[in-house]
Amino acid sequence: MTELLVTGGQVLRPDMTVERADVLVDQDRGDIVAVDDPGELSGDDELDAGDGLVVPGLVNAHTHVAMTLLRGYADDKPLDAWLQEDIWPVEAELTAEDVRVGAELGLVEMIRSGTTALSDMYFHVDEIAAAVEDAGLRAVLGHTAVTVAKDDEGARADMQASLDTALELDGAAGGRIRTTFQPHSLTTVGEEYLREFVPEAVEAGLPIHLHANETTDEVDPLVDDHGVRPLEYADDVGLMGTDTFLAHCVHVDGTEIELLADSGTGAVHCPASNMKLASGTAPVQAMLDAGVTVGLGTDGAASNNDLDMFDEMRDAAMVGKLAADDASAVPAETAVEMATANGADLLGFDSGRIEAGANADLAVVDLDATHLTPAHDLVSHLAYAARGSDVCHTVCDGTVLMRDREVTVLDERAVRERASDHAAALVERAAEED
Ligand SMILES: [Zn+2]
Repeated sequence: MTELLVTGGQVLRPDMTVERADVLVDQDRGDIVAVDDPGELSGDDELDAGDGLVVPGLVNAHTHVAMTLLRGYADDKPLDAWLQEDIWPVEAELTAEDVRVGAELGLVEMIRSGTTALSDMYFHVDEIAAAVEDAGLRAVLGHTAVTVAKDDEGARADMQASLDTALELDGAAGGRIRTTFQPHSLTTVGEEYLREFVPEAVEAGLPIHLHANETTDEVDPLVDDHGVRPLEYADDVGLMGTDTFLAHCVHVDGTEIELLADSGTGAVHCPASNMKLASGTAPVQAMLDAGVTVGLGTDGAASNNDLDMFDEMRDAAMVGKLAADDASAVPAETAVEMATANGADLLGFDSGRIEAGANADLAVVDLDATHLTPAHDLVSHLAYAARGSDVCHTVCDGTVLMRDREVTVLDERAVRERASDHAAALVERAAEED
């Protein structure tokens, strides 16, 4: 057994208190063995927390990691025009290698900002899985199926690919990779395909992840067609349940919030993306009050435009207050819980808490910074003042992925160069097609 001692830090405990403690990690099993007073534990290797704050690795519960290649390519447009005029034409030119290179860039960015787990929706998923395996993170992956604008054969093949990918990849990278069945959204997958394939996914025991109620354009047509709210329709086709988590849930009414809570369906709040695309303000405090498990996600880098979960915590707390018209809504500790324990719960990982028995997924925040002085309340700092660049060490599954701000698992400079080259070539190809 090889043991790593994270020493000299202050530890954020699951009850949101902070205490001086050392954390002992079993690197072979990838879990936390003990959390104890300074000087009580010893390990084969040490990671000096340098008086920093040891926190659970952050969980990015909804993203499209390879979209880092489109960061800053098209901004300042509403969702529908942005997708149709800018994003989809370029995505149509993406090769498997582009997806690999974009995923590596995104994963390095996550490691640098203390994220240790992600839930991803995309295609060329084998490439994303290979990148996750190399980068050492934990991930829930899947092939995202769309049936609109496809003939029946193409539509069914895409849905089948989502099922097959989820079944084949589950448990890869020594169990760090889990999977979900992924219909893209309630408006981009036809009803007959949901009715055929969702029961198959449930029968196979696959969790389900999709976009829902992101904009009014994803609500009004469904209400017109079916006479019920989108999540009532989702329930009717078998999508709601404890193994399902929905990205966005911006435009949900009281009935739908109740349905989320009663069915045990999770929600992933993506505040930056919702603000940037002017999608709306999600009723996060109302969902939490109803007992819905709400995690946090960055969504893709093209609508954010980074993968920094510290920004997301701050945005969630800020916009949560605005949505509730109440400054006490979505307080700091709730924002931190959403980015850690809640996200881990949605993804099905025993992570998101610094405690014996939990996965050894953690990050150390360097508190020796002007913008983190003074230190009245470190949970407040996590939600409101800290940045991803304050993270100095990142550990996932007991492996040190970044030590003293040096990423150890991938060659960061090479990853950035490849990403810049591939992004430039991609945009050029898309312009030629235009
Ligand atoms: Zn998304």
